[in-house]
Amino acid sequence: MKDGQLQVPDMPTIPFIEGDGIGPEIWGAAKTVFDAAVKTAYHGQKQVNWLPLLAGETAFKQTHEWLPDKTLANLQNYLVGIKGPLTTPIGVGHRSINVTLRQKLDLYACFRPVTYYPGSPSPVVHPENVDIDVFRENTEDIYAGIEADVGTEDAEEWEQLLAKQGKLDKVRFPESSAFGIKPISKEGSSRLVKAAVDYALTHEKHTLTLVHKGNIMKKTEGSFKQWGYEVAESYGDRVFTTNQYNAIRKAQGQAAADQADADARAAGKLIVNDVITDNFFQQALLFPQHFDVVATMNLNGDYISDALAAQVGGIGIAPGGNINYQTGRAIFEATHGTAPQFAGQNKLNPTSIILSGAMMFDYIGWQTAAKLIRSGISQAIATHNVTEDFAKTPDATVYSTSGFGDYVAKVI
Ligand code: NAD
Repeated sequence: MKDGQLQVPDMPTIPFIEGDGIGPEIWGAAKTVFDAAVKTAYHGQKQVNWLPLLAGETAFKQTHEWLPDKTLANLQNYLVGIKGPLTTPIGVGHRSINVTLRQKLDLYACFRPVTYYPGSPSPVVHPENVDIDVFRENTEDIYAGIEADVGTEDAEEWEQLLAKQGKLDKVRFPESSAFGIKPISKEGSSRLVKAAVDYALTHEKHTLTLVHKGNIMKKTEGSFKQWGYEVAESYGDRVFTTNQYNAIRKAQGQAAADQADADARAAGKLIVNDVITDNFFQQALLFPQHFDVVATMNLNGDYISDALAAQVGGIGIAPGGNINYQTGRAIFEATHGTAPQFAGQNKLNPTSIILSGAMMFDYIGWQTAAKLIRSGISQAIATHNVTEDFAKTPDATVYSTSGFGDYVAKVI
């Protein structure tokens, strides 16, 4: 990283974590596609040196550590990596390895683009209207994991603190309550919204929507909205926000505000608005075309990206990247889990990790490889050469996980 730009050699070392459950199978298929795309795009002038790293159950079996220091050090050193899903260890004191990785590397922006590939199965009538880029804050919110179990010393202390602050009467059953803490900071919210605004402007998107439940969680999610608008307005006349619209309406009336909104749209400004989370779920099903870029907090983002993915074929096709735009560090990953009940069957869909790889190649500036990967996936889905989860038409040819990777690699 130099002057805010990644410096990528022609033969970069890119660390990868195969992952647990179906991880090794989907990774194997994806690597076949990546190598084919890079070869076709650059004829040997560029090439990836893949560096395997251990994490998750596989790491635990070999090293008795879920996330070995060496893995973390390599991800820190090489900046950009890719991973399959990892099992979340069950038991006292264990945290999700995915959450730990995002927090340790401070990968604050979880970027999940949700796009429809024609031919994908969908429960909605017009899935082609879904083209929404979700920016989910990745290091705060209830994912900080600060909780106190019922009847513990921690819970008792928190109860006493609430009593001291005169707030204990807000807890319906204090004696049998577990408690959790939801940190939402100005710094964390602002850098996430900045990433979303930068993306929206460079990709000439029309709208950016802040999704929050600030009507109920006024100090946390409500502040996220307020800070979000502040960040957006710091971009000056490149954006037009609902805050500005409301201010004009108050001072000059509805007609003037509507005119300002129409002028801003005609001038190609980014329209920044906000919507309450429950309403977003409804609107995104009814009118997905109203949304281009979404910026939201950790938990909302988790729900929203899976719900949107369901409209375009499911989590088998949903890619993602966890990114720190300052340090350049990034880990790209399938958004689904390890699907342990399918492990070893060579059956599930590797598209999520394959498209995550396309995002990674875009991120390192290898757009030609990224485009080839997307067009290979597009061709496979359009001609119904797919894995079982996508085979919903009588003419579909069903491929195994590895077979699908081979097919896509062949058409690239
Ligand atoms: P999951 O995403 O693994 O599976 C849920 C269901 O989604 C599966 O039963 C399957 O029907 C479908 N599915 C998942 N991947 C698919 C694919 N590639 N193609 C087609 N269908 C697919 O969720 P889970 O069962 O709740 O979690 C299993 C484990 O994964 C847990 O340990 C969980 O903590 C972990 N997890 C990890 C990540 C990650 O590494 N980023 C994310 C979510 C869950």
